[in-house]
Amino acid sequence: MLKKEAREITGGLSKPSKMPGPAHNLPAVACKTGAKLVQIPGSVCAGCYALKGRYRFTNVQQALQRRLAALEDPRWVDAMTTLISGQDWFRWHDSGDIQSMKHLENIFLVCKRTSKTRHWMPTREAQFLKNLDPATIPSNLIIRMSSHMIDSGPVKFWPWTSTVTSQEGRTCPAPDQGNECGSCRQCWDRSTPNVCYGKH
Ligand code: SF4
Repeated sequence: MLKKEAREITGGLSKPSKMPGPAHNLPAVACKTGAKLVQIPGSVCAGCYALKGRYRFTNVQQALQRRLAALEDPRWVDAMTTLISGQDWFRWHDSGDIQSMKHLENIFLVCKRTSKTRHWMPTREAQFLKNLDPATIPSNLIIRMSSHMIDSGPVKFWPWTSTVTSQEGRTCPAPDQGNECGSCRQCWDRSTPNVCYGKH
């Protein structure tokens, strides 16, 4: 499949300036758990960056909605594989989250077909992980389960997690290096059980 066709099918990838590679994003309003958390003060989704700023522009919203609709396209796995092939690092969902078990299974297929790419996917959707054996996840993918509340510890049921702190203890160095990952790859590293971000 040509990249042009793959972009038309999927709505294309995003390019977060902070990250060492491209990403895929979906509308934050479609987040199943996040849409509830955003109403809860002190949650990691309260004040969600993906509901503000440039994400509110009509053209950005249209692109996000196109990517959401594209998940139902039977060519999605092939098209995403085409777009991601050749990338060293990939991030799933710089906005948005897992929509269904089928969506997650399709992401696994894309990861398996892009075995040279290291994939990282943060999620707040415990419902899709609770019955999943981490050993069955493609070895080039790490799924980090985010804690729902700022200043709470990592969840216990999943081996790779992320937390947000308003105090000391941040382990993400991005704020000290121009809000970029630079050479840090902790989020992609399975030997790092938890990554702690500073509250924005
Ligand atoms: S912990 Fe490292 S890889 Fe993760 S977001 Fe921060 S700088 Fe990037």
